[in-house]
Amino acid sequence: MWDYAPAPESRDIANLKPTYRMFVDGQFVEGGGEPLKTVNPGTEEVLAEVSTATTADVDKAVKAARRAYERAWGRMPGSERAKYIFRIARLVQERARELAVLESLDNGKPIRESRDVDIPTAAAHFFYHAGWADKLGYAGYGPDPKPLGVAGQVIPWNFPLLMAAWKIAPALACGNTVVLKPAETTPLTALVLAEIIQQADLPPGVVNILPGAGDVGAALVSHDDVDKVAFTGSTEVGKVIQRQLAGTGRRLTLELGGKAANIVFDDAPLDQAVEGIVNGIFFNQGHVCCAGSRLLVQESVAEELLEKLRARVSTLRVGDPLDKNTDVGAINSREQLAKIEELTASGEAEGAERWTSSCALPDKGFYFAPTVFSNVSQAMRIAREEIFGPVLSVLTFRTPDEAVAKANNTPYGLSAGIWTEKGSRILWAAQKMRAGVVWANTFNRFDPTAPFGGYQESGFGREGGRTGLEAYLDV
Ligand code: NAP
Ligand code: MG
Repeated sequence: MWDYAPAPESRDIANLKPTYRMFVDGQFVEGGGEPLKTVNPGTEEVLAEVSTATTADVDKAVKAARRAYERAWGRMPGSERAKYIFRIARLVQERARELAVLESLDNGKPIRESRDVDIPTAAAHFFYHAGWADKLGYAGYGPDPKPLGVAGQVIPWNFPLLMAAWKIAPALACGNTVVLKPAETTPLTALVLAEIIQQADLPPGVVNILPGAGDVGAALVSHDDVDKVAFTGSTEVGKVIQRQLAGTGRRLTLELGGKAANIVFDDAPLDQAVEGIVNGIFFNQGHVCCAGSRLLVQESVAEELLEKLRARVSTLRVGDPLDKNTDVGAINSREQLAKIEELTASGEAEGAERWTSSCALPDKGFYFAPTVFSNVSQAMRIAREEIFGPVLSVLTFRTPDEAVAKANNTPYGLSAGIWTEKGSRILWAAQKMRAGVVWANTFNRFDPTAPFGGYQESGFGREGGRTGLEAYLDV
């Protein structure tokens, strides 16, 4: 057996600048906060310095968004707004290679994923929602649904540009203006999106982007003049925000964590299921809220499936995110790596059987070899808590009822997967599953036309599709 030669994408394409500034009222300006250094998790080198916002900057940005809402965007006909949003979509496509390389540098995800999933799906969200802007009267929310006003949006680091698109596109289509805070460790592509928004000539203040840490997010979501808060991140922070907003009358949607069950019945095509399981948990290093992190296998096929799975996972290439041959890139931060290590150690301590791929890992950077735990019981932390890394917990079941009961035995409820040859079983199980998205014989498929969101501690509200518009309309 021989190895592939390295095939790295050129980092020059990213047009990396030594410093980045926040985007307020149509201008790039210095924030009053201590600048942050954003790191390439694949190499641990500092990529750039990014200015951060203070509470006063948050206030300035919200005021700019309010003015833009009242004077321009909120009263503009939908057909005009659509032109701007289509322009953003086309510019994202035109700058797709630059954005893909920059995303992989800042986040650590494989270039194959940023190039083929993150950036095209981000563009698709703008295209899709641009199409709605002049048709809101036909969306089923009355003849002339009104926007909410200023939206304060906070997003995580796992899909930096894509999450920004999920948030900004529907808000703009419905006539709202936006103040968005990207995650501290991945601010760069959101600031290039700000350049694109400037290039697309949107009225100043319609979109404002404020880099910074959690305190900037906290100042934004608790600002009095924000009409709607949209948050994607951990359940822990989601609960804090929900408490802050309780009783204020301000609107809130929360997209939080998950611990999805991926169920393989004994009649499933196993080789196909293995591909889906791998995609479900090793895509984006497992930094996916809807990752299929709990594999439930019917006992009669468990041995065979596990053997095939380990063989397949052994072939995953872990390493340089910019190498086109890389399957699993870098863990986003040292903190996240420590969290994954702590939880996997708990799995071993609690008696689960650990198998870790013997793949080579780079000397520098934050990496974690793909790991599969078998003999996992429902009480173990690795079966209950979100690991948010390339770690799969495998449990078994005997009957379909038991599978559904185990799948639903979680405080979360974001997604689930079903693998079976029987259509009737898919419909039966999907109906019983308490999860916002249920995939059948596939996993991790995203489309702007399909609503996405959770049950229970995975949050509330939907993003995408006609249903997702509701979060940004006064209905
Ligand atoms: P996190 O700590 O909750 O952070 C999310 C965002 O909130 C970041 O921008 C963070 O800033 C900011 N933040 C932190 N404290 C805040 C506060 N008190 N008030 C307002 N904002 C605050 O989550 P994470 O660990 O970065 O992201 C991973 C989590 O996101 C996972 O649980 C994952 O399941 C979830 N997620 C959910 C979805 C979904 O659609 N349901 C999608 C992707 C990810 P900093 O960057 O400075 O910490
Ligand atoms: Mg970074």
